[in-house]
Amino acid sequence: MTQFDYDFFVIGAGSGGVRAARTAAALGARTGIAEARFFGGTCVNVGCIPKKLYTYAAHVSHDLADSAAYGWQIATPPVFDWSRLKQNKDKEISRLNGIYKNLLSSAGVTIHEGRARISGPNRVTIGDRVVTAQHILVAVGGQSFMPPIPGIELAMDSDDFFELTRQPQTVLIVGGGYIATELAGVFAGLGSEVTLAYRGPQLLNGFDQDIRAFFTDAIKTYTQLKLNTDIERIDESGNQKQVRFADGSTQVFDAVLYATGRVPATANLGLVDNGVTLSDVGAIIVDKHFETASPGVYAVGDVIDRVTLTPVALAEGQALARRLFGGREQPEHKVSYDLIPAAVFSDPQIATVGMTEAEARSCHRQVDVYRSRFRPLKHTLTGRDSFSLMKMVVDRDSDRVVGIHMAGADAAEIMQGMAVALQVGATKTQFDQTIGIHPTAAEEFVTMRTPVDV
Ligand code: NDP
Repeated sequence: MTQFDYDFFVIGAGSGGVRAARTAAALGARTGIAEARFFGGTCVNVGCIPKKLYTYAAHVSHDLADSAAYGWQIATPPVFDWSRLKQNKDKEISRLNGIYKNLLSSAGVTIHEGRARISGPNRVTIGDRVVTAQHILVAVGGQSFMPPIPGIELAMDSDDFFELTRQPQTVLIVGGGYIATELAGVFAGLGSEVTLAYRGPQLLNGFDQDIRAFFTDAIKTYTQLKLNTDIERIDESGNQKQVRFADGSTQVFDAVLYATGRVPATANLGLVDNGVTLSDVGAIIVDKHFETASPGVYAVGDVIDRVTLTPVALAEGQALARRLFGGREQPEHKVSYDLIPAAVFSDPQIATVGMTEAEARSCHRQVDVYRSRFRPLKHTLTGRDSFSLMKMVVDRDSDRVVGIHMAGADAAEIMQGMAVALQVGATKTQFDQTIGIHPTAAEEFVTMRTPVDV
């Protein structure tokens, strides 16, 4: 029998890769991992974690503004120091990098720093080193997609955002999805003037229609929103960027940020040469066991472009490692893609689990919708023009709650618990039987009694 250097070799130490490697090593597999850039991948370095830190910074400005209503007098005008925030963020991210590396080495995973590619059956080349492995996992994630308009090289992507050492006073954000809406809230909260240009009529495609309408209105209170807007070109204009919109108008900004989606990072990995097949968008095609068309080569996470969220990559990496090294097929070797909760850390926050109203209506005979829009208690004193929206979608025949959606403070924290309820098939009656916690926003979900008329 051929003796390989490794039982399992992982290319990419992001969320999915690290989880797979650690799980495999814990199950006794001789495991190696290669990483070209930074340990922890997009989420830890230029995604979820630093983004959330910036949203905290942005929220401080709201708290300062609201403080007078609660009796506080802030004596001197508060000053925000972007570079201090960046330094502190960098320090925390490099601490996390170290933690990720330690987690791998203490689990017994051998780390190879450098860019890896598949160089033959069971072979991976990292720089001038070649290693052999019985199983190879590709977990390299994705990268920003920016449409090829003239001057696009003058625009930033979300990676560049986290490297900004100075705050742009005026910024154009292009896109209407997760990153565009989140960074609009961050820039505006920190005091930049934000223009958001989106090609469609309403932000956050794919989310429930009421949430989209509510959010599209809410974001207008702190951004210049340009809907149905395309950008034709970007030019240098001194230290600024001049943007020409498709309607012929031009405007100048300190910075332009594109958040127009991400694509799988499948180039230069030796994939196609070694029998791995890719989809039209360059995603690795895998079967239900995450195996590619090349036997013994697997892929998980953003690179397979199924559900591009960190917790999904973690679940996929873990399921694969358990299936390969954990003995007989077990239920935990499968990933359930049903009822994946998600949150957008925008201002206001948005969170969701299950079906939108439109999805529910397309597959259930009769659907009841419960909806509540209210001013949160906190803002009864501040007078801030800030509302929350909560919505439940119920299949009337089975009484099952099939979708829950929220826009408002703490939506993400609230939705995690709602996701458990939906996982276990909770009915509307069971929600109604649940005692609320008063006074909270979350109690709305157990006190909604009257469906809206449709
Ligand atoms: P999204 O897919 O969320 O949004 C992309 C946006 O860009 C959409 O509004 C899309 O419009 C628009 N767009 C796409 N192509 C073009 C184009 N050629 N010209 C103009 N506009 C275009 O991607 P993001 O980049 O915001 O984020 C990438 C992914 O990362 C997310 O989908 C999500 O999976 C993940 N993510 C998750 C976060 C979280 O969990 N909180 C936070 C950030 C990212 P249209 O809708 O019309 O197609």
